[in-house]
Amino acid sequence: MKQIVVISGKGGTGKTVFTASLAVLAESKVLADCDVDAADLHLILKPVIVQTDNFVGGKAFEINRDICIKCGKCIQFCRFKAISADFIIDPIFCEGCGLCKRICPVNAISESDRICGQSYISNSKYGPFAHAKLDIAEGNSGKLVSKVRQAAKKIALQKKLDYVIIDGTPGIGCALIASIAGVDLAVVVVEPTISGIHDMQRVLDVAAHFKVVSKVVINKFDINLENCAEIEEVCKIKGVEIIGRIPFSRQVSESIVKCIPMVEYVDMPIREKIIAIWEKIKIYTQM
Ligand code: SF4
Ligand code: SF4
Repeated sequence: MKQIVVISGKGGTGKTVFTASLAVLAESKVLADCDVDAADLHLILKPVIVQTDNFVGGKAFEINRDICIKCGKCIQFCRFKAISADFIIDPIFCEGCGLCKRICPVNAISESDRICGQSYISNSKYGPFAHAKLDIAEGNSGKLVSKVRQAAKKIALQKKLDYVIIDGTPGIGCALIASIAGVDLAVVVVEPTISGIHDMQRVLDVAAHFKVVSKVVINKFDINLENCAEIEEVCKIKGVEIIGRIPFSRQVSESIVKCIPMVEYVDMPIREKIIAIWEKIKIYTQM
């Protein structure tokens, strides 16, 4: 079983659309959407949820005002200013550090699990699918990403599937690190824009730091050939191979609007390019 993650330095490069095409082309796979802050692979895969679990992202704290002697120590020591003058903890500001509970002289503060979202196991036309939804303003997305990946890996092992195909997290934060840790190949999708080049460099550096082999796919390569040449130069310097160049096409936008994987919608020249990329990925992850 091999794990392939599709990542980008930022959102909006076509990462998810490309992942959905791999979902079509790979025969024996489980899919995982690790972009838990803004999950959208499900819009294309149209899964049917078969299992839902709460995601406990941390601890919630509450002051029992019947016990509280209003000494004010908790307000004084909470560096996140999460406790109001009338001794109520605001869950938005509370970081769950637990200091207030430890220093309260009368044990007036209790803790409980903080439900920060849900994780799902689903079936889809393209195979089993592990995904999740982080609640608004909740953190700890790296922990949720790990949960999604573990669920996908478990399914792959149980069903003896060849691939775990992961729609990774954009950016370079802890959720991205959780997305790429231990994978067999990272496919970086980049668009030929100045910010795209910059973001690609950063994400390639993170992948290299964690000793993850990366390959690059340039999406909409023909919208700016000058920037495309710069991407090629950067990849050459970093020793990273470009395994495909997908041209701009209105059909791709149409496929997104219709929530159809682009490889199932676009005409042959582009479809052939995506298939060729998948064939290269297969070679690089040969069993
Ligand atoms: S748990 Fe930490 S952040 Fe939350 S209220 Fe207590 S001291 Fe403040
Ligand atoms: S530290 Fe405990 S007793 Fe003091 S104000 Fe806070 S909750 Fe009340």
